[in-house]
Amino acid sequence: MAYVITQNCCNDASCLAACPVGCIHPTPDEPNFATAEMLYIDPGTCIDCGACADWCPVDAIKSDRVLTPDQAPYPAMNAAYYADNPIQPGWRHRDAPPLVTIGRAPLRVAIVGAGPAAWYCAEELLGQPGVEVSMFDKLPTPYGLVRHGVAPDHPATKRVIDQFRFDRDQSARFGLFLNVEVGEHVGHAELMDHHHAVIYAYGAATDRRLDITGEDLPGSVAATRFVAWYNGHPDYADLDPDLTGRRVVIVGNGNVALDMARLVVTDPGKLAGTDMADHAVAALRRSNVEEVVILGRRGAADAAFTTPELLALTQLADVDVVVDAPDLTAELTAASNATVRGKLALLASLPDTAPDPGRKRIILRFSTVPLEIVGADRVEGVVVATTEVAAGADGVRRARVGDRTEIIDTALVIRSIGFRGTALPGVPFDEVTGTVPNEAGRVIDSASRHPLTGVYTSGWIKRGPSGVIGTNRLCAKETVANLLADFLADRLPTPRAAGSALTRLVRDRQPDTVDARGWAAIDRAERSGGAETGRPRRKFTDRAAMVEAARPHPVRRLALSVLTRSR
Ligand code: NAP
Repeated sequence: MAYVITQNCCNDASCLAACPVGCIHPTPDEPNFATAEMLYIDPGTCIDCGACADWCPVDAIKSDRVLTPDQAPYPAMNAAYYADNPIQPGWRHRDAPPLVTIGRAPLRVAIVGAGPAAWYCAEELLGQPGVEVSMFDKLPTPYGLVRHGVAPDHPATKRVIDQFRFDRDQSARFGLFLNVEVGEHVGHAELMDHHHAVIYAYGAATDRRLDITGEDLPGSVAATRFVAWYNGHPDYADLDPDLTGRRVVIVGNGNVALDMARLVVTDPGKLAGTDMADHAVAALRRSNVEEVVILGRRGAADAAFTTPELLALTQLADVDVVVDAPDLTAELTAASNATVRGKLALLASLPDTAPDPGRKRIILRFSTVPLEIVGADRVEGVVVATTEVAAGADGVRRARVGDRTEIIDTALVIRSIGFRGTALPGVPFDEVTGTVPNEAGRVIDSASRHPLTGVYTSGWIKRGPSGVIGTNRLCAKETVANLLADFLADRLPTPRAAGSALTRLVRDRQPDTVDARGWAAIDRAERSGGAETGRPRRKFTDRAAMVEAARPHPVRRLALSVLTRSR
């Protein structure tokens, strides 16, 4: 008997510290940790104690005695990792280097962004006595892609935010400034005036471009927008994607593509029980889509999606997953790594033509690249070409466009080829990588390449848009350890203005600032709205409604004004 790690694994490695026998790998100090799809438990070493399950923030670790039928493949998947990566005799997990204990205060740090990358930084900082943190986000709600990116039918993944709770002492040292845009309401220099340091952890909010003709036709939509639309992001509530056609084409085959494909063909009745935005559920109820084609420019062995997400796709009721991969058998024979072999074996077990034309289907098409998106005044189809994949001198396998082309008819093309960061005024930015240039989280000047005093970065805007939520935990540890080391070495400037002046400045510039209490009020209102219909929450999708919900209740407002007047 053993424990196994299943689909929701967030890779944040919290479970490692709990394991008394070191049976969870890869660990952050092992070379394949950065690229691992998930963590795995070695069944031969596990002593079935369950300590790791108690520490898992997303409930991904289960005893092999209580697996659901959908989780049945996971014991073999966990064991397969160790066929290629046996635990070395005498191996011992080295704990992460101890964090700097600063022992003197105050240290005031601003964090720009309120997604998981930002919260992991806040958690590290507030674990130090006397450190004060102010967190800013341009939206009136926190949690970034946990709220506006994670698929609504993945509620366990969203539980990761339950860790971002502070005790009374930490809360007193933490200020939340939502609905405040850095660069618009408050600038970089002003943040530096009020803090010893600023950490930029604002993620990657926009999309990469295909750079092909027709990319901007109506009906060609970036995945970043489509995902934000169904997740109730207030800026994309009006997107209104065209779901009138029979087929949707998605370009790119990462996990975001799989999320979107799954949601488009899932029974909207089931989605109505999630926190998906009301407008998206209504649009999916009206949808005519029967088929989603996902295009991967390279072969199946190079698919960007992970095996757990593919497995979940194959377990959808009433939906067939069809594989169109010309070289699948050869790729399976050549595969040298257990993770790729497992993924290819799962793909090889799926049909290569739709078994029942009456059912909805997702077609995973490989070695195919879009050349042009066509249509008179909106999308009518996409011209695609086959590709051949070959490794370059640098060892990277790249797709070369072949000579067979065809048109796939569709009214909706979703471009899901990765996220991209954007620049903030006053902060260095690398246009090529779409990231803030840095060395281990210390932001460096674009021209001189020297570290900028007191400026740091973490998360996707630091390292690019890859990795799952938990990857940001170790990323935050690195950034914060360097920030604290700089503070101890007297390398940080002393703030010119008092911390208390910051709240006044921000409120003057943005009277509709939403603080921690305001967010708690929005959260309560959304949860109680959802509870009425058995949903986890019913999201506000309009900024004005969020700001209104954040205002103190009229009775409390009256009590506050009486109290203020009587002072
Ligand atoms: P991704 O994993 O980087 O996938 C991007 C896809 O776009 C790849 O198939 C890539 O192909 C393709 N692509 C890039 N440029 C292209 C071009 N010019 N033409 C055609 N295809 C192109 O990105 P993502 O799906 O946005 O995911 C971002 C991160 O979030 C990933 O780390 C992902 O695992 C994570 N995520 C995880 C979950 C989950 O765990 N459930 C859910 C969502 C997202 P090549 O491989 O050939 O470059």
